[in-house]
Amino acid sequence: MHDYSTWGLRDLYKRIRELDHASEEIRIEKVAVVRAIEARRAESGSKPDRFGHNLSSEAGIAPREARQISGLALGLEHLPEVAKGVESGEIKVDVATELLKFATPEEDRKIADQAKSWSVPQAEEAARRRRAIAEKEARKLHETRSFRWFYDADRRHVNFKGLFPAAEGELLISVIETEVKRADAKRAGGDENCCADSGTHTDPGRHIDSGTHVHGFASAANSGPRGDTEQGIHEKSREEYSRRCADALISTLSSGSVSEVFAGSRAQVTVVATAQEMSSNEAAVRVGSGFVSAEVARRLMCDSDIEVVLVDQQNRPIGLGANTRSVPKRLSRLIRARDKTCVFPNCNEDRHIQIHHVVHAAKGGRTIEENLAALCFFHHHLVHEGGWLMMGTASSGLVIKSPYGQVYETGPLVMELAQVG
Ligand SMILES: [Zn+2]
Ligand SMILES: [Zn+2]
Repeated sequence: MHDYSTWGLRDLYKRIRELDHASEEIRIEKVAVVRAIEARRAESGSKPDRFGHNLSSEAGIAPREARQISGLALGLEHLPEVAKGVESGEIKVDVATELLKFATPEEDRKIADQAKSWSVPQAEEAARRRRAIAEKEARKLHETRSFRWFYDADRRHVNFKGLFPAAEGELLISVIETEVKRADAKRAGGDENCCADSGTHTDPGRHIDSGTHVHGFASAANSGPRGDTEQGIHEKSREEYSRRCADALISTLSSGSVSEVFAGSRAQVTVVATAQEMSSNEAAVRVGSGFVSAEVARRLMCDSDIEVVLVDQQNRPIGLGANTRSVPKRLSRLIRARDKTCVFPNCNEDRHIQIHHVVHAAKGGRTIEENLAALCFFHHHLVHEGGWLMMGTASSGLVIKSPYGQVYETGPLVMELAQVG
């Protein structure tokens, strides 16, 4: 080793930079070695060493470092462009560690390009920002929604193609299936059985199998394209069912009965979640046959046509859970009358109003006037998965904060005297 006591300050700084560079190179190589180790282990059927336990015990590496390298090695498998940047030394190892907290495979290339110029604090900032703006899945799903149509060459058929987030998609499915059942019941001579009138389903346990499979309503799921459990469904009945669904969609839309289906709670879509999941920021919860993030589930629980059923760890419904937490009709009418429009700054929307819990029920908020505010569908989205924050109470006024730091105030939300009488 050199005798640094004789070195000048400039040379010492230069040396520390060199050493830092060398240690970064060693870390890069460590990641490459661990990626090779993981590949060998995968070949022999071992589980990924996500927490570095294997690395720590086999190589005697400190648990904390083993965990970081293992996590990095495994995470980079999904981000090949970032991995290349790390290998070439263009992306710092610590920057890559931050990237793994939020980058999705779809944005691998874009993030890899950006990250080449990032310092570690910049990467940390990017990760924080991303977390604040949204749970990435919810946002991504919301952004990729689409509904398109195109014509066949002879223009005698129209093809529709739609992509919806699970919650909205399940609502649509439920409307169609409800209409199919209604039409079937009518064809059978108005002999509506229990399931055709889903409005009578008050027992949430009905929608939950002994396992974890959840469906809108039992018999349609078994006879429809979604059901695949019972005695195999023949291609012919599948086609037949899809024709009935097509009829149902047209009849529902042309009769304008969509809202009627919702209003009568005949469309049955259920979110099933544990209390723990509902208050989590990470969990994905089931809605119908799909999944939504816990934040979306909280929005649905605030006010929507989707019923949220709380279950315990064994998937058993807990009392009336969701129903007692959602806003009773009388209170909902009161809030609508008090707020008149969406309370968001500069939003005058008075249709598609939903009642939002300022402090969510899943986080201990109460279903009382003080804690409720009217929001339009769009703004309700923003304060849940859109990363906007809403604080305060109705009587003292609400404070709304954008993900970029702007702050808005509503002022007190009070009933005008004329309205009370
Ligand atoms: Zn809400
Ligand atoms: Zn609004």
